[in-house]
Amino acid sequence: MEKLITGVREFQTQDFPRRKAFYERLAARTQRPEALFITCSDSRVHPNEITSTEPGDLFLVRNAGNVVPPDGGPAGGEIATIEYALAVLNVRHIVICGHSQCGAMQAMLDGNVPDDLPGLKAWLRYLETTRQIVRRKHQNLEGAELLKAATEENVLVQMNHLSTHPQVASRLSMGELHIYGWYYDIGTGQVLEYDQSQGVFRELGDDALAASPLPVRAASA
Ligand SMILES: [Zn+2]
Repeated sequence: MEKLITGVREFQTQDFPRRKAFYERLAARTQRPEALFITCSDSRVHPNEITSTEPGDLFLVRNAGNVVPPDGGPAGGEIATIEYALAVLNVRHIVICGHSQCGAMQAMLDGNVPDDLPGLKAWLRYLETTRQIVRRKHQNLEGAELLKAATEENVLVQMNHLSTHPQVASRLSMGELHIYGWYYDIGTGQVLEYDQSQGVFRELGDDALAASPLPVRAASA
């Protein structure tokens, strides 16, 4: 904890005074984030850093495996946050960003979560659709290639889950909302985006590619 406490002191004595006017402006108005950014809890993934954005720019949902529970399940923090982003903050762009070396994806592929982690075990049910797609579609892959393919497939599955929610589906149908699928490589800094017209992830271009509305796959949980 020492690192965190020292860090807070540094922030308060150095960064904050230097950018006091910026923070005062942030506090003086309601937030108006550019996008809802849904990504993994992994500590190596830093949404603001990889998008060169500031406090106030990204509304965040983070959990193990950048999961969006499909509509019809129990109410949870993810859905509440997504609804708030759309209905209150009027967010018009949602990014779902998976990443390299994802522990949640590896756990899904390994399928051997210990019984004394019942919460994680239950959570991984939301990855069951991804697991079955990967098992059928990527039988020929292994190791790092398999993990990357699984992570990309999972981004697509979670995009589909997202589109099952009425608040999302209704805005997609009106062209008022755009959903983007990204893959971030921790070791290289590369960000790939899903190109729906080609059905592949490719280097993020100048024009962000929205992939929506998507055909809704059967909910996994
Ligand atoms: Zn992860």
